[in-house]
Amino acid sequence: MTMKAMRVHTFGGPEVIQLETIARLQPAADQVLVKIKSIGVNPVDTYIRSGTHAVKPVLPYTPGFDAAGIVQAAGPGVKNLQEGQRVFLTGSITGVYAEYALCNTGQVYPLPDTITFSQGAAIGIPYATAYYALMYRAHTMPGETLMIHGASGAVGVAAIQLARAAGIRVIGTAGSDAGKTLIQETGAEHVLDHSIPDYLDEVMELTNHEGTNVILEMLANVNLAKDLKILSKHGRVVVIGCRGEVCINPRDIMGRDAAVLGMSLFNASDRQKSQIYAAICAGLNNGTLKPVVGKEFSLDEAAEAHQYVLQQGAYGKVVLRVV
Ligand code: NAP
Repeated sequence: MTMKAMRVHTFGGPEVIQLETIARLQPAADQVLVKIKSIGVNPVDTYIRSGTHAVKPVLPYTPGFDAAGIVQAAGPGVKNLQEGQRVFLTGSITGVYAEYALCNTGQVYPLPDTITFSQGAAIGIPYATAYYALMYRAHTMPGETLMIHGASGAVGVAAIQLARAAGIRVIGTAGSDAGKTLIQETGAEHVLDHSIPDYLDEVMELTNHEGTNVILEMLANVNLAKDLKILSKHGRVVVIGCRGEVCINPRDIMGRDAAVLGMSLFNASDRQKSQIYAAICAGLNNGTLKPVVGKEFSLDEAAEAHQYVLQQGAYGKVVLRVV
């Protein structure tokens, strides 16, 4: 039996992702084969494909980490997942830009009936990143003010929902009208436009001239120096996204006893990941977490999706549909 998969044989531009027909996979002990319905396209998929990321898969490979679908077959010893069950994936053994993916059972979680497959494909990296940044890196507390610098994309939307459910006040930024509307509707108390000069002037007024306690930063090479000037005493910036170098004044950190915290989700331990996904599953089930799907492409349009996900004007999650 065969299946369709998008494959990469050489690192390079989006055009290196090619549709192929390859052999169907079989689950071994403690593995499941998942029939993929929707796939989450993450910016990191593009960095890995280009060969510029620290993670370099052995070529050829099938890209992607996040997806949702139905358990097609369970290997020997699998007890917690059944054939036909709706699930979302937080990684796989074989890559998810394909009709089927082989997974370890620990990479697969039940998808509530209230969440569509495309929403399910928007959970993995974005929600885990937002949770890890907010709770494990910044230790954000209820009642604190959080600025999400880049709130209109997949991680930003997840961070708004997680923060609001935890009693954290949210200021969000976006660079398009659609993005601003999205983050307001998602629950940001204040919305700023990062495409306008001096948009950060308002932050001191919005925070009683104390500054914001936490910033989740999606584009540190552009914003880190400005972030450090609008932080409160003991404020924390978590650098989630960065696409270049930046010049900062370390005195802005000293005077506030502030902290700049890096993060890579790849550094989260298995224990942390199982805690994070337990919290995320609870939020999906109680309705506080509702992934927002933006532009959808078909599986064979993965190259176009890789170009699209890096453009300005983000609106929730970019998804590939398997039809
Ligand atoms: P995304 O859906 O493409 O969203 C990108 C976000 O960045 C949008 O909200 C976009 O806003 C915003 N942005 C663009 N220009 C900005 C500016 N000048 N200032 C502030 N924000 C700006 O991507 P994502 O999946 O949310 O990921 C966000 C970033 O985090 C990416 O760089 C990604 O690689 C990184 N990331 C890192 C980790 C990690 O482990 N460290 C994990 C996941 C993601 P507009 O389009 O509205 O302008």
